[in-house]
This record gives sequence, structure tokens and C-alpha cells, in this order.
Amino acid sequence: MYTQDLERFQSHVHVDLPSGCHIWAGAQTRGYGQFSVRKSREERRSNPRSGNRRVQAHKWIFEYHYGQVEKGLEVDHKCLNPSCVNVEHLQKLTKTKTWRSGAKFTCKFIGPKRNAM
Ligand SMILES: [Zn+2]
Repeated sequence: MYTQDLERFQSHVHVDLPSGCHIWAGAQTRGYGQFSVRKSREERRSNPRSGNRRVQAHKWIFEYHYGQVEKGLEVDHKCLNPSCVNVEHLQKLTKTKTWRSGAKFTCKFIGPKRNAM
């Protein structure tokens, strides 16, 4: 069953040769690929209305190769391309360290109201 998921996963992936990124060509949310997997038997029992669960594609492939990501850690893109699902471009980081790839960092000493020169 897991192998079928991997084949389905790879049918959504487009390899970008110059960068080596594996671009997710399926559904996306805010730039991140979304992959729907079948729920486990236990999950279906507690919520039988839907048989599938959407997960972040890059996180799914990372966990496929390296096992479950511990709580408090995130899968970060070393290549800074959120739709990339190449496991060689992914790494585990604590949440506070992922700011450089997504959230804006503002220096409080510069501030937003600065006149142009
Ligand atoms: Zn990449």
C-alpha cells in the first residue's frame, strides 16, 4: 500500500534539471505541494466521512525516507523552493530556524517608516 502511494506521488513530480529540484505539479497551498493519502484504519474509524487526508508533499516524502518528523521540528527547503520535493534538498529544523525560508524578518531598529533617499 505504501509503494502505491509512492508511485502516485511520483506521478505528480516534475524534475527541474538545472536546479535538481523535484517540482510538485499537483495541488498546492501557499506554494507548498499537497498530497492526499489514504487514512489509516484507525483514522477512518474516528472520522469515517472522508477516506483521505491531505499532507504537505515535501513532508510526506521526507517521512517516507527518514521516518516520522519529531514534534517541534519542521521539514525545511535548503533550496528555498517550497514546491520542491527532492529529499536531498530537505532538512529537519526546529521551527524557529525556518524563518529565513518563509516569514519576513524585520529589524526593529530600522522600522517601517523610512524615507527614500
Ligand atoms: Zn529543491
